[in-house]
Amino acid sequence: MSSVETAILPGGIVSRPGSTADYKTGTWRVKRPVVDLNKCTGCLICWIYCPEPAILKREDGKIEFDYEHCKGCGICSEECPPKAISMVEE
Ligand code: SF4
Ligand code: SF4
Repeated sequence: MSSVETAILPGGIVSRPGSTADYKTGTWRVKRPVVDLNKCTGCLICWIYCPEPAILKREDGKIEFDYEHCKGCGICSEECPPKAISMVEE
């Protein structure tokens, strides 16, 4: 194997769990989630499904988003039982 080949790291590998917290994945987003706090029950289903560290629990038990890490995938909106989360254009 040449020195050039050995310098290329294999892709698609997460070598350390939770490492996305180190990156601002919010720059990927084209839509952002917005929560209607009147509908939010604080069940945290969205927190369980979110693939990023992007959903934070507020002191009142409801949620807010960390837009530096939310990549806009929309999973939270799909999974929220009372449909309290809408995806809106940036
Ligand atoms: S899933 Fe919906 S209702 Fe439950 S905490 Fe998240 S936003 Fe609130
Ligand atoms: S849109 Fe995706 S990344 Fe952003 S808070 Fe919802 S589930 Fe998490």
